[in-house]
Amino acid sequence: MKILDMHCDTITCIYEQNQNLFQNSLHIDLSRVKKYEGYAQFFAVFSDPVYKAAAIRRCLEIIDRLYLQVQQHDMYFCKSFADYEEAMQNKKVAAFLSLEGGEAIDSIAVLNNFYRLGVRCIALTWNYSNHIATGVLEEKPEYGLTAFGRKMVARMNELGIITDVSHLSDRAFWDVAEVCKKPFIASHSNSRSVCSHRRNLTDEQFMEIVRAGGCVGINLYPLFLSDKKTARICDVLRHIEHFLSLGGENNIGIGADFDGVDCLPEGIGGVHDMEKLFNELAKIGYSDSLLEKISSKNFERIINNIL
Ligand SMILES: [Zn+2]
Repeated sequence: MKILDMHCDTITCIYEQNQNLFQNSLHIDLSRVKKYEGYAQFFAVFSDPVYKAAAIRRCLEIIDRLYLQVQQHDMYFCKSFADYEEAMQNKKVAAFLSLEGGEAIDSIAVLNNFYRLGVRCIALTWNYSNHIATGVLEEKPEYGLTAFGRKMVARMNELGIITDVSHLSDRAFWDVAEVCKKPFIASHSNSRSVCSHRRNLTDEQFMEIVRAGGCVGINLYPLFLSDKKTARICDVLRHIEHFLSLGGENNIGIGADFDGVDCLPEGIGGVHDMEKLFNELAKIGYSDSLLEKISSKNFERIINNIL
């Protein structure tokens, strides 16, 4: 089985805790992904809003850490679909770079430079508002995408950077849907009909992503999986089943949020347990081709289409 996961905070944790990618106490390390036929991961640089003016320096330092880890541990740093295919053919881990929160980007020139460094997916905000858009947990005012945010999405379309709506407020989501000319994604969000957390997508939002040809990464954080606040693998299945019932066969993937969350569903300790989820889906009768779509093919299409 091949796994393509659109979101983790592992490189940010490695930077903060001075650990390494080969073997660590986190949710993801290379020693634990060997068992998969192929493994590709978008590593997010988390722009915690507390860094304000220092956000750009922090981003550049975390990006440097990813470059060093890729070099040391014989991974492929991927900037294109061709890079990804080469990594898979050579049985190497494919590492992509993404930003979670656009705090560090205050001009198009800075965006251009992050592209040059290899950033290929940007979540415009984290939970709070910034100069680009309103975040999902911001109380007021709800202004959606700013004038700069609109320019930024347009430039991301031109460059070939995936627009990620996870963490955006509802109004900002709909502004992106209007402005974005390419398929867009929610890299790590679930269904609000199944679990009412605001970080999850309404059915209308999910269907808009389907209409645009985008994709949604299923998040393993128990608070986004179940209103009971604890979760098991069957709760993950409920979100997948619901999205499928909305016609999302080609629009669901994985965005586990490893190392961005303080707890996981019962039975899942990290990336090595992802196969349990797919085993459960196989048990309830999912075909091999559907399992492949969810584990990698749907997001592969996005990478091929946009990068
Ligand atoms: Zn997140």
